[in-house]
Amino acid sequence: MRFFWLIAGLMITHTAVADSPRRPFPHGQEDNAPADEEGPPAPESTEAGSPSGSTPAPERACTLYFPTWAKRQSAPESHPERARDYHFQAQLMTKMLALTEEWPGLIEAECIGRSVRRDPVWSFTIENPTRPTEFTVLVFAQLHALEWLGPEVVLRLAESLTDSAPEGVRVVLVPIANPDGRARVEKDLLNERIGIYRRANANGVDLNRDWAVNRDIQSWWSKMPFIGRYYYTSSAPLSQPESRNLDRLAAEIQPDAVVSLHSFGGYVYYPWGGLAEAAPDNQELHRLAEVMLSAQARGGYIAVQLGKWASWFKAHGVEIDHFYGNYGAASFIIELSKSGFKLFDWDTVRDYFRWYNPIDPEPHIQDGFRAVRGLIYDYAARTQSAPSSPHRDRKAPN
Ligand SMILES: [Zn+2]
Repeated sequence: MRFFWLIAGLMITHTAVADSPRRPFPHGQEDNAPADEEGPPAPESTEAGSPSGSTPAPERACTLYFPTWAKRQSAPESHPERARDYHFQAQLMTKMLALTEEWPGLIEAECIGRSVRRDPVWSFTIENPTRPTEFTVLVFAQLHALEWLGPEVVLRLAESLTDSAPEGVRVVLVPIANPDGRARVEKDLLNERIGIYRRANANGVDLNRDWAVNRDIQSWWSKMPFIGRYYYTSSAPLSQPESRNLDRLAAEIQPDAVVSLHSFGGYVYYPWGGLAEAAPDNQELHRLAEVMLSAQARGGYIAVQLGKWASWFKAHGVEIDHFYGNYGAASFIIELSKSGFKLFDWDTVRDYFRWYNPIDPEPHIQDGFRAVRGLIYDYAARTQSAPSSPHRDRKAPN
């Protein structure tokens, strides 16, 4: 019932009248947002030698050194109460830096590319050097600006997996895929701005409708008014640097499994998202989703094909279809928590930050962390080192 009210609320508060489902979303992806305070985005590519006005230059590699960059980041002087138990990006990266310093040779940071505003996007690879890698699991978070639980789950995974690294499974973590959107929400919090809805990157594009597979809009959802934000695809596949960063990373590491952390809903979704028909590996995808559910301490999440969430719903051009369709990776979206929205609590109703980020994140971090760790252990159990692996006990302490 609460979910019905949430959907109703979304339809009312996130209104964009759609006269053509093929047209790019007309308003960007933000509501009630102040005018861009940062000035125009930096040009995406300034590669020397590129003839101006011709085909875009290739993206310049990001060669930043993580320790130097991380030490330059500064946390706010006073932490906003609304985000009391959530890290700001600078704090989260300081903790990641501490892990890389504590466990050299086990966890390694790499800049995988830049955002629209040229901020670096970081990956952290955890690989147990005592055994050869047989599987690779890619976990990334925060395609969407307001969804802060995902990065918290990634931090918890990094802390846990460095302490007890899985054998035979390389884990690649990207805590913040959309740093520009994240920075804007941080600024909203510091300025005590409430009721600003942010989802997109700095170009106003929904990064979860920017992927290359199943982009054709077929659902009759697209004929409904008010909800254009959620079914529009971007103007072209991989049109945004943030999407291309993750695509390049996947091409390089060839993941066996991909997890994209979102909020909210309490779901583990698997492909297809843009089609109602079952994916060729439907049974295995569902099995792995159930593995994640059973690894949760509290549970209560639902495992379902994204394109079958409801008969009228399809998600066109989403990341799980891309990583499954293009790379053959078992791909999942985890929608963390069932929202911090409370129908009769005005402070939560008016505050989008609270919708996506419950006051106490800890139980939701646990749910997400245990689910992903359960998936990683499923792969570890298939490796040759499995009989001696200590990682098969999912009731192991954190
Ligand atoms: Zn999301």
